[in-house]
Amino acid sequence: MSAESEILAKIHEISRPLRIMHICGTHERTISRYGLRDVLPPEIEVLSGPGCPVCVTPEKEIDRAIALAKAGIILTTFGDMMRVPGSSGSLMDARSQGSDVRMVYSIDDAIALAQKTPDKKVVFFGIGFETTAPTNAAAVLRKPPKNFSLILSHRIVPPALVELAHEINVDAFIAPGHVCAITGTQIFQQFADMGFPIVVAGFEVKDVLLSILMILEQKVAGHSIVENAYTRAVRNEGNLVAQKMMQKVFEIVDSEWRGLGVIEKSALILKPEFAEYDAGLLYSDIITEYLKDMSYSNPAASLCQCANILKGREKPENCPLFGKKCTPTTPVGSCMVSQEGMCYNWYRYRGV
Ligand code: SF4
Repeated sequence: MSAESEILAKIHEISRPLRIMHICGTHERTISRYGLRDVLPPEIEVLSGPGCPVCVTPEKEIDRAIALAKAGIILTTFGDMMRVPGSSGSLMDARSQGSDVRMVYSIDDAIALAQKTPDKKVVFFGIGFETTAPTNAAAVLRKPPKNFSLILSHRIVPPALVELAHEINVDAFIAPGHVCAITGTQIFQQFADMGFPIVVAGFEVKDVLLSILMILEQKVAGHSIVENAYTRAVRNEGNLVAQKMMQKVFEIVDSEWRGLGVIEKSALILKPEFAEYDAGLLYSDIITEYLKDMSYSNPAASLCQCANILKGREKPENCPLFGKKCTPTTPVGSCMVSQEGMCYNWYRYRGV
């Protein structure tokens, strides 16, 4: 019997009604791709929370990047971000209209481009949670060339989860292993104190199943603690070097999450001492001028159920646009863009 089968058998043995939310697009990918919901006992429901950074980036932040691209600045970003809809199109649309938008695999590619083109301004549009923020902090500390700057949409996970924990009907959480590899596990202690069992999980099938089993065991034992089921990658204290770099470069501010609204102390921005690399400040006139004509009441987008999906309240198949107007090649909402998005995974692995 494989390790996965053994864990699954134990899950069935002690199963009970349970709503478990994960907060990670990569977990959703594993769960959807390997059909884990179909092999779990029917009384265990696994919900997807706001764990896909592409999905939670608000339209206005996409528009800010588009404003820079349309002003003749070379805008670099990851492939997924090029396709996320802003209020009137995506960065890919801007590129097809003549703007210089380039896909990069890392911030280092964007810096290398700035070094090669000293007569051009190059902006890197960076997104992500605690997982990716240290890479951008490290790049800033290395003092990139003067023609390089960043526009950032970094979010931090726990504040969004605090909002959801008060708002939704959920019994336990699976915490994202890659976030905890940076932050350590104790950032999730507050949820255990609130009565939610919470287990840090890796991304293989075995990891996800093990986290569900450990949550069940906590329920059986009648306690709620933070446990680490991903010890091969996550130390309780996290990555102290990465944490120091983040503290040096970023400050924490209130910020909007797509579909969730403004969440207190949930985003990272560059500290004032790094203002020379802050594209939002350097090009604030361009951005303000562009945003003043923007409307945020796109009728197609208003049918999008991403807000409810990111809160675990709705399934993609219940969205009227799912698989019709909205597909991975024609995404209406951000949840259909990335391989970490719930709608993308539902479309890709549930079949349409
Ligand atoms: S299917 Fe598309 S429009 Fe519907 S919720 Fe998902 S992303 Fe939004």
